[in-house]
Amino acid sequence: MQISELGEFGLIDHLTSTIKLENASSLVGIGDDCAVLDCSGQKRTVVTTDMLMEGIHFDLVYTPFKHLGYKSAMVNLSDIYAMGGTPRQLVVSVAMDRRITVKALEDFYDGLRLACERHHVDLVGGDTTSSITGLAISITAIGEVLPYDGETEVRPILRSGAKDTDLVCVSGNLGAAYLGLQLMEREKQIYLSQLREAEQKGKAESVVFEPDFAGKEYLLERFLKPEARRDIIEALRKTGVHPTSMMDISDGLSSELLHICKASNCGCRIFEERIPIDYQTAVTAEEFNLNVYTCALNGGEDYELLFTVPLTDHDRVAALDDVKIIGHITRPELGAQLVTRDGNEFALQAQGWNQGEQ
Ligand code: ADP
Ligand code: MG
Repeated sequence: MQISELGEFGLIDHLTSTIKLENASSLVGIGDDCAVLDCSGQKRTVVTTDMLMEGIHFDLVYTPFKHLGYKSAMVNLSDIYAMGGTPRQLVVSVAMDRRITVKALEDFYDGLRLACERHHVDLVGGDTTSSITGLAISITAIGEVLPYDGETEVRPILRSGAKDTDLVCVSGNLGAAYLGLQLMEREKQIYLSQLREAEQKGKAESVVFEPDFAGKEYLLERFLKPEARRDIIEALRKTGVHPTSMMDISDGLSSELLHICKASNCGCRIFEERIPIDYQTAVTAEEFNLNVYTCALNGGEDYELLFTVPLTDHDRVAALDDVKIIGHITRPELGAQLVTRDGNEFALQAQGWNQGEQ
């Protein structure tokens, strides 16, 4: 089916008619000029938005539409969790060119819906328009920060609250998504050279993208289908630990640590050997002749959480599943330092992510 057969309103209706609202704060969803939200009560409202451009943030050669929908939602939910918040609503805008089919959009919305269901978020609106070249996606997420159980004060977790002697913690493991991307890029190059060869023989249609990823599923999953760490926020709340600062790791650990140090006017000391790395990440980094710690420090798109906690919370944080203490906060004049496995010290540098993310 062609998009033109449905028309703009038919298309929106087709994609969104089964969406139901879950949250008490979602009063009116898709269908009117605006959604209506109830942001009153004893809480703070947090809002974030992200744009994803084809060719800059994603490549349709190796990104299935369902994964694209899922990931587009997830990167926004991750920002809400990074404030200590609970996401409640999403608004999604899509600009598409003529290549995009109704089936592709259905898959995209399947992915979006799955992300929303898993995180109890309501899709309450959006916009649909055309583009001359490439697909563009813009998602806005709205969430709320509630007080911890038994407390009255609401404390959104900013980047600016880290204090000297605080412990620096990360969730999960790092560098896996970056290596997932390297694998995808390698297979894409193989595919493109097969395609060029076939084109010369006039048989371009016979080439299909059939990548060989055996044994690398975890890395691909981390790149294509990241999971925003709702579980970590819940675990911190349960143990009563208030992080002093937090952000999600989208541009690499180094870059994010420097953001926290700058915003909090502090330094930090991080130990390379404590940076959590998955076995497959280490093996694959070696295959690519890459230093796995460089991948963990400078790769992107992990969507793990980086946070600091007071030293007095050491035992409670050390007991949490899937959280590692990788160092501590220092006075600003000491700078942001990495202590390598062989005991050398280097100033952390923000190399960031090379996919055009600003
Ligand atoms: P307007 O002309 O006021 O922008 P639209 O026709 O674009 O209205 O949108 C009608 C309704 O459909 C609105 O509630 C809007 O939020 C929703 N909507 C439009 N596009 C999308 C989309 N891609 N995904 C979800 N909701 C959408
Ligand atoms: Mg509109």
